[in-house]
Amino acid sequence: MVSDEKPKLVYWLDSSLYLNITNQCSNNCWFCLRNFKQGVGGFNLKLKAEPTTAQVIAELEQALSMRRWSEVVFTGFGEPTERLDVLLEVARWIVQRCGNSLAVRLDTNGHGYVINKGRNVAQELKDAGVGKVSVSLNGHNEETYSENCRPTFSGAFTAVIEFVKKAKVAGLEVEVSAVRMPEVDLEKVEAIVESLGVAFRVRDYIPCFW
Ligand code: SF4
Repeated sequence: MVSDEKPKLVYWLDSSLYLNITNQCSNNCWFCLRNFKQGVGGFNLKLKAEPTTAQVIAELEQALSMRRWSEVVFTGFGEPTERLDVLLEVARWIVQRCGNSLAVRLDTNGHGYVINKGRNVAQELKDAGVGKVSVSLNGHNEETYSENCRPTFSGAFTAVIEFVKKAKVAGLEVEVSAVRMPEVDLEKVEAIVESLGVAFRVRDYIPCFW
């Protein structure tokens, strides 16, 4: 049950801190939790306004002092590269504040280059201190990807594959994930991921109970 408290920019689960820097997304996946829930783990993640870098850092600074965390993950109720500059500024702040003691990861739909035309997204992430990207791929071709993720532009499946290749070239640790559900042919997705030479992870779908 998600509380009525004000929306969170920072939330946590076990030893990981999660950053909810946007509610915008270039996909509209039919299974997205945003369609069914206010948040996760009791945290309200439905933002009333897109936050500034300073607001994210202020909330993050408070959370950092609560305990020893193992990683900070840009994820949340939206696609973090929709706010690329906020993402990069916060990542640089984390590195400055915590050095190498805290891993920085990005969970992304892999549309970063389409959302941020003309930017060298993967290299900028790497330079800002992001170490790892986890890219979601819930389809094995344009057709199945479009059916499941309902992107706002055409050629989205190809865009995700290109993002993975560029992230690898930039020296980021790359993992591709897919959700376990009948609409996703995990074997076919895994074969594509294998051909790209990166890690593959299957995530269990969290059904919504209410
Ligand atoms: S890519 Fe993620 S945030 Fe965007 S609609 Fe799909 S599940 Fe939701």
